[in-house]
Amino acid sequence: MGDERVLDEAMKVMGVFEVVPRLVVFDLDYTLWPFYCECRSKREMPSLYPQAKGILHALKAKGVDVAIASRSPTPDIANMFLDKLGIKTMFVAQEIFSSWTHKTDHFQNINRKTGVPYNAMLFFDDENRNIEAVSKMGVTSILVNRGVNLDALKQGLTKFSKHLTSIEKNKEKWQKFAQKPGSSGKDKQ
Ligand SMILES: [Mg+2]
Repeated sequence: MGDERVLDEAMKVMGVFEVVPRLVVFDLDYTLWPFYCECRSKREMPSLYPQAKGILHALKAKGVDVAIASRSPTPDIANMFLDKLGIKTMFVAQEIFSSWTHKTDHFQNINRKTGVPYNAMLFFDDENRNIEAVSKMGVTSILVNRGVNLDALKQGLTKFSKHLTSIEKNKEKWQKFAQKPGSSGKDKQ
């Protein structure tokens, strides 16, 4: 499937959902591209997973921002590759640094720089420990198997809208509770 076909399909997928994330965050190695960039040379011409570019463009076309959270120890190579692939300027935040935490510090930086709350973000990564740590922050997180593709996008958007619906329901429950006379919320607006 060419980039244009993927873009069309991704637009269709997103059209199904009433709510979409404000920001989608991608890991690099084995999520956007099929290699560890620390094992490659800056002189090489890298390539993305086949559906990655179409998905990035579809998100942008729908007004959804995109960002990077990578623990790559070679940000210089990663940056060079993003540039060579012609996608470097697409990202509103690029957090590429090695860290002992499982990307929680990457997401704190992204949150600070973009102002997007964690529950309005969707995250794709191929490592379970990152997925676990970041979902605890309130970010809808999807483990990818062979890089990001249309199936992963569909899965991500489904999980995101379910997550948001449950947050809304809890909010409603709380508001009802707070409105009850004699409840602890009686002095609140
Ligand atoms: Mg990875």
